Amino acid sequence: MLRNDMLEQWDRENLFHPSTHLGQFARGEAPERVMRGGAGCFVEDRDGNRFLDAFAGLYCVNVGYGRAEIAEAIAAQARELAYYHAYVGHGTEAAITLAKMVMDRAPGHMSKVYFGLSGSDANETNVKLVWYYNNILGRPEKKKIISRWRGYHGSGLVTGSMTGLTVFHNKFDLPLDRILHTEPAYYYRRPDLDMSEADFVAFCAAELEALIEREGAETIAAFIGEPVMGTGGIVPPPEGYWAAITPILEKHDILLIADEVVTGFGRLGTMFGSDHYGLKPDLITVAKGLTSAYAPLSGSILSERMWKVLEQGTDQFGPIGHGWTYSAHPIGAAAGVANLKLIDDLGLVANAAEVGGYFVSAMRAALIEHAHVGEVRGEGMLCAVELVEDKGARTFYDPAGKVAGAVVAEMAKQGVIARAMPQGDILGFAPPLCLTREEADQVVAATAKAVNSVLG
Ligand code: PLP
Repeated sequence: MLRNDMLEQWDRENLFHPSTHLGQFARGEAPERVMRGGAGCFVEDRDGNRFLDAFAGLYCVNVGYGRAEIAEAIAAQARELAYYHAYVGHGTEAAITLAKMVMDRAPGHMSKVYFGLSGSDANETNVKLVWYYNNILGRPEKKKIISRWRGYHGSGLVTGSMTGLTVFHNKFDLPLDRILHTEPAYYYRRPDLDMSEADFVAFCAAELEALIEREGAETIAAFIGEPVMGTGGIVPPPEGYWAAITPILEKHDILLIADEVVTGFGRLGTMFGSDHYGLKPDLITVAKGLTSAYAPLSGSILSERMWKVLEQGTDQFGPIGHGWTYSAHPIGAAAGVANLKLIDDLGLVANAAEVGGYFVSAMRAALIEHAHVGEVRGEGMLCAVELVEDKGARTFYDPAGKVAGAVVAEMAKQGVIARAMPQGDILGFAPPLCLTREEADQVVAATAKAVNSVLG
């Protein structure tokens, strides 16, 4: 076995870690943590420290760690047929079975699923399909995509552009042309504190209308949004938000892409976030929960309306010029089949609603009175605690102080992993969907203790 000191040296010398301060890490100024095992909601590092992972990796290990059923399905697929491609009508039993399982669970108006590898590539696929769709319909100028500030849709060129967090744009020459941003559904950070929730929903709708008006509806192809905003701060929309937005899109013939990379397959206590909010998207992006991250796999789920136009396109112009070597990879698909079966067998969608509701209420009860907690919010198995410098005036901390980072580091000392969200001092929680009430209590207790010890 590798010695820990040797592993750390190799790590700092060779591995380029995503979303990391590169200089500090290479120089040994930023901490390193190497995980080696996990079971249920817990992970263990190489020093033998055990953590309750209240962020399920990156909100993806939805069924929890160490599920032998999925490991065995992956091993069996690798032994039988590790790879065959999906081009030109080829396939594997695993990919076809998973497609059937996904479509059986997706909202009724959806028609087909294209499998990729990551949430980013699935959203890249979605944008290409939207552009193709409008070209086939003879509307070559209708190409712009509207996303929301603070939305997260990946970190590729187009997807990093749609992401509305400045750290993903700065120094990368993003956003690219054709990508526009509008107001996020973030009531706590509303521009005017006197706005009621209803006023703020009307404001978001008016901002969207004004953007469409300025650009011209004939130039706008699609709107992309997460049913509950994730990386931008774990923010459920205010009451009535989606009901106000979707008629505007319909009126201007703008497609809706529901980015369900986080919310797909149960996190909100419903199979899809679209079910939760009554959305009727033209495309749904899925990834994380599709395999619970036991293997990389994503999906673009297309509505029947889109599919019909794509069929028309290939009848006119021949096979569609889109595909990855690893599209519908059989090992990912085998993991997906075992994972979706496990979600059903263990009743995890219902558990996300039940224990998730308990978790958010318990967090609120424990923290909302604290002088530096501005808001505790959540939906299903998602929760956030927003830290503020001055609660009455709703003023935020100077980001340089990294207050949320300090709280999360304190929690790790108590054996609980939470995430300091990338923009704003926000503690994020997205535990595995198998979380128990006792484990929820442990997360809440560690959060309260850490907030008290860091912020007094
Ligand atoms: N969309 C959403 C809503 C996400 O939360 C993420 C990742 O966190 C992505 C897309 C990108 O997925 P990936 O990191 O697999 O490329």
